[in-house]
Amino acid sequence: MPSLQYVGASELARFRGLDAGAPQRAAVFADACRLNALSMIMEAGSGHIGTSFSCMDVLAWLHLEVLEDGDRYFSSKGHDAPGLYATLIGLGRMPFERIHTLRRLGGLPGHPDVGSTPEVVTNTGSLGMGISKARGFVLADRAQGRRGRVFVLTGDGELQEGQFWESLQPTANRGLGEITVIVDHNKIQSDTWVSEVSDLGDLEARVRSHGWEVARCDGHDLDAVAAALRTLSDAAPDRPKLLIADTVKGRGVSFMEPDDLPGAGDDSLSDAELTALQERFLADGWGDRRPVAVEQPFELVVGGRLIRGRIDAIYPRDDGGFDVIDFKTGQVPSDFAAASLQLSVYRLAWADLAGVGPAVVDAGFLYVRTGSVKRPDVLLSRDELAALLTG
Ligand SMILES: [Mg+2]
Repeated sequence: MPSLQYVGASELARFRGLDAGAPQRAAVFADACRLNALSMIMEAGSGHIGTSFSCMDVLAWLHLEVLEDGDRYFSSKGHDAPGLYATLIGLGRMPFERIHTLRRLGGLPGHPDVGSTPEVVTNTGSLGMGISKARGFVLADRAQGRRGRVFVLTGDGELQEGQFWESLQPTANRGLGEITVIVDHNKIQSDTWVSEVSDLGDLEARVRSHGWEVARCDGHDLDAVAAALRTLSDAAPDRPKLLIADTVKGRGVSFMEPDDLPGAGDDSLSDAELTALQERFLADGWGDRRPVAVEQPFELVVGGRLIRGRIDAIYPRDDGGFDVIDFKTGQVPSDFAAASLQLSVYRLAWADLAGVGPAVVDAGFLYVRTGSVKRPDVLLSRDELAALLTG
């Protein structure tokens, strides 16, 4: 049985007071909260890790550097409750002992609930209601002569809800500049890609067309988050604001991150350049080979755990076997051995999908700048992978 440690109250307090730049301090605090959220979820035996981790940097920044007396923060997506609890515990605004009570009777509920946790601003649900609730808070504040801003976190999957879109126009029409919405844009909803369920299209343009001020940044780069929030605030004091924070579901744990696994190193290329390079390889073939599948989604159960992902391309081999290929645009990383975990998962997943033994499936990274393929020395078997994951 693996054991998980948590970060104690005194250490959290030390992190909050670190003599470092505000973004660095918040990033350290966020990672400590990730550990505590994970510890809570493990003790509970259930809970949403990926969605808590993708928004944790934004949560830390808002709570440490942005929110002032009279301001409100709440999550519209709600499944990130462990992340919020870890943050509130980290701030000392929720008793530390509650870290052991997630999803227990009388403890912290799986979704925010003001009845049992007065530290949260509002219950969550239904999905898509976040802006509508924020409007209510702001209008009530105005009626009572109170001042305060409202920060709302939404998921990206929940933007498929009609109420989200209905709430945009009247919020702009009323000039509710107190509202800032942050979209935790991790590209995944529940167990699949947002784009596969119902693509959001040009989200920036769509929201902007309703009269909102819109910005977009890397939601894990707290210098960028700080600058984007400042720009929004300066640009539109009297209009509602929305920040699209590009995030990674499961951020902080390499094997949970779908797009940022070891060896990715893709930072230097834009999405368009990356797509062009990948398309070149898919169109020209690799050597003379055409892929038998591209963007292949998979589900693999190893050691009782479900792993979902997507394989860039699978090429046939002359001997009847397959090459599972993951495109890389950066350089070969120094910690290449760590990357073999990802390819081991891909290899087993494709063997299952193709109905063949893993022995006839090889796997490697194709470095698209040079066309070279780098294969790990060892690809783990199902048993070895299970042992590693459940260790
Ligand atoms: Mg999402």
